[in-house]
Amino acid sequence: MKIILLGPQGSGKGTQAKLLKKEIKLPHISVGALFRKISKKKTSILGKKLRNYMNKGLLVPNKITTKILKQRLEKKDCKKGFILDGCPRSLIQAKELDKITNIDKVFYIHITDTLAVKRLSNRWQCQKCGAIYGIDVKPKKKGVCDKCKVELYQRQDDKPKAIKERLREFHQMIKPILKHYKKITIKMDGSLPVNKLLSQIKKEVKKIK
Ligand code: AMP
Repeated sequence: MKIILLGPQGSGKGTQAKLLKKEIKLPHISVGALFRKISKKKTSILGKKLRNYMNKGLLVPNKITTKILKQRLEKKDCKKGFILDGCPRSLIQAKELDKITNIDKVFYIHITDTLAVKRLSNRWQCQKCGAIYGIDVKPKKKGVCDKCKVELYQRQDDKPKAIKERLREFHQMIKPILKHYKKITIKMDGSLPVNKLLSQIKKEVKKIK
């Protein structure tokens, strides 16, 4: 079962993918997270290149993205399927993905820009376990992860200037991608509470089998 979750930044696709992964036991592939992992290596040339794009909220070039994505999808754990989070982000990437595999379903999680900005500028993440806190899920102690008790941080690209750029880029790229996946796309309401949205997605996923 090969699923894609698309939506603007802050639509909750990452949260949904993490929850869905537990339910359907398939790997959650986030290209953004793969890039963040590589970009943490301070001595890596590729890491430096990625940081340059990501910190400005710009898309990483298609060639680098599809190479890293292909390497990941070829791993053993993806044989039965995967949940791809926030990718493809260009028509070129969608066409490249078609060459690698067949996608069963695309969930397009829609929210307004106003809600996206509100969610992103209030999004804080744990440096240790990656847990995400925001307007809906607040930590018990401000700025500290409930589980790891370490300080939370704000992603560079969740700062106002980068948010604006990321949303601009999103609106530009999403139309041709949705057109490409028209026959297999379901639009979901990303303003719903997390669990409600999850149960709606699960209901649709059951129909794929
Ligand atoms: P995300 O965690 O999905 O918000 O992605 C964080 C950043 O990683 C984006 O702002 C881009 O710079 C980069 N990125 C993630 N996915 C892609 C993709 N499919 N194509 C190009 N750049 C991407």
